[in-house]
Amino acid sequence: MALIVQKYGGTSVGNIERIRNVARRVGKTSGAGNQVVVVLSAMSGETNKLVGLTQEAAEFPLGREYDVVISTGEQVTVGLLAIILNEMGYRAKSFLGHQVPIVTDSQFGSARIESIGTDKMAEELKKGSIVVVAGFQGMDGQGNITTLGRGGSDTTAVALAAALKADLCEIYTDVEGVYTTDPNICSDARKLKKVSYDEMLEMASLGAKVLQTRSVEFAKKYEIPVMVRSSFTDAEGTLVCKEDSEMEKVVVSGITYNKSEAKISVLRVPDRPGIAAKLFRPLTEDGINVDMIVQNISHDAHTDLTFTVSNSDYKKALKLIKEKTAAEIGAEEVVGDPNIAKVSIVGAGMRSHAGIASQMFEVLAKEGINIQMISTSEIKISCVIDVKYTELAVRVLHESFGLGNNEVVEEKE
Ligand code: ASP
Ligand code: MG
Repeated sequence: MALIVQKYGGTSVGNIERIRNVARRVGKTSGAGNQVVVVLSAMSGETNKLVGLTQEAAEFPLGREYDVVISTGEQVTVGLLAIILNEMGYRAKSFLGHQVPIVTDSQFGSARIESIGTDKMAEELKKGSIVVVAGFQGMDGQGNITTLGRGGSDTTAVALAAALKADLCEIYTDVEGVYTTDPNICSDARKLKKVSYDEMLEMASLGAKVLQTRSVEFAKKYEIPVMVRSSFTDAEGTLVCKEDSEMEKVVVSGITYNKSEAKISVLRVPDRPGIAAKLFRPLTEDGINVDMIVQNISHDAHTDLTFTVSNSDYKKALKLIKEKTAAEIGAEEVVGDPNIAKVSIVGAGMRSHAGIASQMFEVLAKEGINIQMISTSEIKISCVIDVKYTELAVRVLHESFGLGNNEVVEEKE
């Protein structure tokens, strides 16, 4: 008997018929003698709708109340699945985040899980019940409802798997796994059998929307094997797991892109110690995450700083810097550009292979695509480009690194 955590995303629970389909899958796993904990998202589109309502209510809605509203989509789906499972003759019980409890910090809208109480779930599992938990939500130390950031049900699932010491965490979605790139852009994108936690971490944070980044951090930390697969087919998915020697042979495993970032440039700042600290501290204090940062070499004791933030924070960040920080640090001008995209190549094999960056830059140059910013880690290279070239860049990179279906990926020794 195994303990399995299964998470179903928004499209998999998009209507009653689909929730019935989920119930059949869950029932089959349970019927095979496994203990099953199910984590659900809200019906597809529901959370966006709820976010929209809060924005209609106020330009900057209060964080605490924002979470009260946007966490409700999951309450509906867990209740419905539990009803259907019971109707089908299984024992099943739903739990909201605070009923588990899943305790988080108080960063509304992007709370982090601090602890999970497993007693109630264990008790239900012992009775032979299927436990159905609302994804995405938790409760802080004061009993306020919190949410874990968009896509946060993945993190709920992996965190529950870690807390319950589950044997496997399955993430059911509307695609069959993790692909070499977005199949909507490259029709020859290939499904990967396995990716390492580190590669998945880069892919997730770079915009492959299949898993929330934080869920992969959890999986890596607690070494939870995560299987990403489709709830609509029986096709084998992609296993996210520890790196093995096979993975290192593949230099580039995937091409990702992210259109949901914006660029802010702070121009002609007097180049003194402490400038960066003064610029970024207020953003951090407001819970705004800064991604890439580039500072130019100074001319006549002045420098330019450019950084990116997510689109959802763009207006807030621009306002903060224009109205407060710019004057404090003596910047002459602040300009923003939301029309950018970040295109990245990721692969564990980059650690041991040279020349990958220059190949990427050459491929983009040949298409006349200007690179505005560059950032690298051990296993990825990202370039910020004009958003209108995103698809072209992804396509030419996918081809140049031999990732298409028809190409045999050479084993480079
Ligand atoms: N319903 C939430 C969202 O749309 C959480 C999730 O689906 O993972 O972001
Ligand atoms: Mg998701």
